Amino acid sequence: MAPKALAARIAGLYESLLSFYGKQGWWPIPSLAGKAGFDARGYHPGNYDQPRSSRGRFEVALGAVLTQNTAWTNVEKALARLHAEGIGLPADIHVLTHERLADLIRPAGYYNQKARKLAGMARLFGAKDALSLKGAPPRDVLLALWGIGPETADSILLYAFKVPVFVVDAYMRRILERIGLIPQRAGYADIQRLFHAALPANHAVYNEFHALLVEHAKQHCRAKPICIACPVKSCRYRTAARR
Ligand code: SF4
Repeated sequence: MAPKALAARIAGLYESLLSFYGKQGWWPIPSLAGKAGFDARGYHPGNYDQPRSSRGRFEVALGAVLTQNTAWTNVEKALARLHAEGIGLPADIHVLTHERLADLIRPAGYYNQKARKLAGMARLFGAKDALSLKGAPPRDVLLALWGIGPETADSILLYAFKVPVFVVDAYMRRILERIGLIPQRAGYADIQRLFHAALPANHAVYNEFHALLVEHAKQHCRAKPICIACPVKSCRYRTAARR
């Protein structure tokens, strides 16, 4: 597909999802739930200026690790346990034993591995430069942490530090393959490059688009898709299913 046509399809997909599902308010910050501009679970639709504090940025990073291989509702439980103990900054993690941290985050699953990952993240965020809004940690520094892959690293860059980098995940891959925008088994970097080329480098658009794709994968484009009433009009999968 010609780059212009591809860009038009990607832009059209964004508009369709946005008008159907509305603004998603990512990344949720549960510690601010119920505060002005935040809903009861910490979502903040239409406000792309969050998080605005080092504590908020660290909370996003914790959530990005905790959500690996589990549902966000389990992450909320783990974060609530941390918050109940007054744990919200890297220094609070430093003083915990591995066993204590693992026990606190148990609801998020894989708690031994995730405790090790959180300890590494706390060491990075504990370094002065990483806490500056201007100073997002370099991607390769995040990727060098034990257990941090491209999806988690990019989630932290985009949602904690507002760096315009598109997050690719399994939901996105499934939707794009079905629609016919990417070939099967396309690589992470290839998909990311495609979106970077098609869209302006705008963190608010990347924020919203990724969140919308996740919502679409949950509501319609599930493992067994619900194509009736799907807002995506041009889909190769649906067309093929009708034949
Ligand atoms: S029509 Fe079906 S397969 Fe295509 S995007 Fe919608 S839910 Fe997914």
